[in-house]
Amino acid sequence: MSGPILPGATLGVMGGGQLGRMFIHAAQRMGYFTAVLDPDAASPAGRVSHHHIVAEYLDAPGLGQLAETCDAITTEFENVPSSALARLAVYTTVSPAASAVAIAQDRAAEKAHFLRCGVPCAPYAVIDTPEQLAAVDEALLPGILKTTRLGYDGKGQARVADRAALAAAWADMKNVPCVLEKMLPLAAECSVIVARGADGQMVHLPIQRNLHRDGILAVTEVLEFYEENMPAAQVASALEAAKSIANGLQYVGVLCVEFFVLQDGSLVVNEIAPRPHNSGHASMDCCDVSQFELQVRTLTGLPLVQPRQHSPAIMLNLLGDLWFLRSAQAATPPWAEVLALPGAHLHLYGKASASKGRKMGHLTLTGPTASAVRATALQAAALLGIEAF
Ligand code: ATP
Ligand code: MG
Repeated sequence: MSGPILPGATLGVMGGGQLGRMFIHAAQRMGYFTAVLDPDAASPAGRVSHHHIVAEYLDAPGLGQLAETCDAITTEFENVPSSALARLAVYTTVSPAASAVAIAQDRAAEKAHFLRCGVPCAPYAVIDTPEQLAAVDEALLPGILKTTRLGYDGKGQARVADRAALAAAWADMKNVPCVLEKMLPLAAECSVIVARGADGQMVHLPIQRNLHRDGILAVTEVLEFYEENMPAAQVASALEAAKSIANGLQYVGVLCVEFFVLQDGSLVVNEIAPRPHNSGHASMDCCDVSQFELQVRTLTGLPLVQPRQHSPAIMLNLLGDLWFLRSAQAATPPWAEVLALPGAHLHLYGKASASKGRKMGHLTLTGPTASAVRATALQAAALLGIEAF
């Protein structure tokens, strides 16, 4: 490989959502030109990019134009067809590779990869056929039935108590390929973000503790420097697991690995995202290198330097629900009051309209100590109408 792709070059991203927008911000800050491919003319990333190719992800002329415009291309969206990435890779540098994205898109392939890497995940069964449904081991119930493809934010999932509920849920999902996972007793959830270069070098962000509500990430805490955020043995085992998953994929780029912490303190991996992740957003305000800068660095072959956390932080997701707490009509949340709190960093994604469950932005609180951050985060939550945590 030749040297790194330096500022002044043009970087592209497949997908125009908020993750793409924050990648564009990081790339532009470092002096790159940017291009987005997304079918929505008003996409959050398209609105801030130098170039916006308004096209479907498999549109050949659109992909051709993106490849011609860009010196390197990444993705912000794991459901971008992997064949589109493979096609782009014929013409230009693409990371992560189509093969790695294809595994992350399919829960069955993803779990098989975890087992190949020796990393435990929840006990599960693949359900593609009525015979597999009938043969499901009773020990997997109660469980969660998940479509193998296209699930996000808890969509494409059903909790099932017994065989009858399982059969009904699979029929509801139109008998598409699914996995049934055993419902595990969770003590907590956490995630680790690693960045791996083409030479195999890896750095990571501090471990993040995540609170989900209704299947959607609500709060992420990165309260102490990573060694202290959770018991040292848990941190070490999460890092080791994340690194072996990334190595096993020969991964180039930013990878998020989500874990369940069980009541006995052991960790099992839940799923991976082949891109920056909602749980890593605090890194923009609490670390000296954010997950989006890591994405730029891995894409361009720039050096990877281990990020350092400089402040404890709590991130609150701002869902569209917050716009409807006071009235049936959408009403702007009290930003001025929130921004009067010390260490409040508001990130809004420029989406034209709020709706329930839609990720409109996030708010990160940083401060000198974990207890100070917790206090301001709870004040912000109260002002915004977010349930205390
Ligand atoms: P996202 O897009 O937010 O990552 P997703 O739709 O991919 O979500 P999962 O991560 O599979 O969904 O599950 C969402 C949440 O449901 C988990 O974070 C966890 O709180 C809960 N959950 C999922 N699987 C299990 C399980 N096997 N046992 C207990 N809880 C689970
Ligand atoms: Mg998840």
